[in-house]
Amino acid sequence: MNFFAQAAWINGQWSHDVRLTVDQNGLWSAIATDQACQPDDARVGVILPGLTNAHSHAFQRAMAGLSEQGSAAGDNFWRWRQAMYQVALNISPAQLETVATWLYAELLSQGYTHLCEFHYIHCDPKGNPYADGAEMSWALVRAAQHVGIGLTLLPTLYQHRGFDRQGLQTDQRRFASTPESILAIRDQIQHHAIQEKKPHLLNAGVAIHSLRAVAQTELEALVQASGQHPIHIHVSEQQKEVDDCLAHTGLRPIEWLCEHIGLDHRWNLVHATHTTPTELTQVAQAQAAVVICPITEANLGDGIFDLTTAIDTSLNCSIGTDSHTNRDWSAELRSLEYSLRLTRQVRNVASREATGFRPTGQALFEMALRGSSAAAGLPLAGIKVGERADFFELDTQANPLAGLTEESFIDALIFSTPSNKPKHVYVAGELKTADMPRLTALAVKTMHGLWQSS
Ligand SMILES: [Zn+2]
Repeated sequence: MNFFAQAAWINGQWSHDVRLTVDQNGLWSAIATDQACQPDDARVGVILPGLTNAHSHAFQRAMAGLSEQGSAAGDNFWRWRQAMYQVALNISPAQLETVATWLYAELLSQGYTHLCEFHYIHCDPKGNPYADGAEMSWALVRAAQHVGIGLTLLPTLYQHRGFDRQGLQTDQRRFASTPESILAIRDQIQHHAIQEKKPHLLNAGVAIHSLRAVAQTELEALVQASGQHPIHIHVSEQQKEVDDCLAHTGLRPIEWLCEHIGLDHRWNLVHATHTTPTELTQVAQAQAAVVICPITEANLGDGIFDLTTAIDTSLNCSIGTDSHTNRDWSAELRSLEYSLRLTRQVRNVASREATGFRPTGQALFEMALRGSSAAAGLPLAGIKVGERADFFELDTQANPLAGLTEESFIDALIFSTPSNKPKHVYVAGELKTADMPRLTALAVKTMHGLWQSS
């Protein structure tokens, strides 16, 4: 299959009159610029590579917008977590599949072509294992396959309520897991991907909920069996978590990981909000990566990621929508940049010497793209031979791109709002469309059922 693009974002710049060939595995097999369109080529306009949403808890889409009221006691992350647990306790496999299908279709329509699902609801509502330990995981796999978005499932180990290593709280009973149960889910998903002949669309790694939720021996057992697949962990999201880690171990969370486990290219540290420059430098030197979730971090009052140290140390970074209060990648990148402008009282924070002072929007987009492959464990590094043929076509005649030249397109998508949706989205060389009115109606019915049972 051949495409002919008027312009394509390749290796961090625009190329023109591009012929692109997709092989039978959905990967780019040939790319040539300044070509003539051939009769059988599928013509597309101006295209950007698809982005990976590197951190998702799909079930939390069901509560977006429902936790925005304060009280005399104040509000913080830990109160929000109590509300989130009510959804986690009640959602059935069928409800999860419906909500996830709706969410994934919306993410795809925005230009996300892959997502990493950090998945920790494993047991039934009473806290007993399902007959198939991957029951809830399959709901997510079916949702992704229905929509056609790529998926890296990250079954998540969660064994303790805190650093004192007591067991789970009653309202955490559905998260119960062991290294063996997590690895069994991972193996089932990987086997399924091979059976379905979709090794480039479906992958499975593992995740550790957080250092407070897993003891060292349990963590080591999981890491040793991880092979070359991605390992994700929530780390240093809240100051309290850093303080608790210091109190129990004498080290900050990333310091502890570096000293007791050792980071490498498989590791994706989610949030890494409260860090020292030394910690981020250690992560970069280990070739590990960070997943930033700017709007969830803002929504939960987490804090602001140290983007400038990340850029200056060439730290591999990706973005995620986490709790899904936002589903638009351009808003995530805008939020990240604006948080820093407001706190530092400067402009164009991401446009730095380390990236040749390239325009801020381009620098942020390239950063998110660069972290995609590490987060997903798949070839998702953009429009290059050997990478998956994921891309989306811009509507250059509509706001906010109308009247601009292509050099400003990425900046305008991020900083001129409201941004616009892609005209078309392709995954592994195939056009993807979704019946959003039908998926929305199903999700609304499901959410009403979920609230009645909460
Ligand atoms: Zn998370």
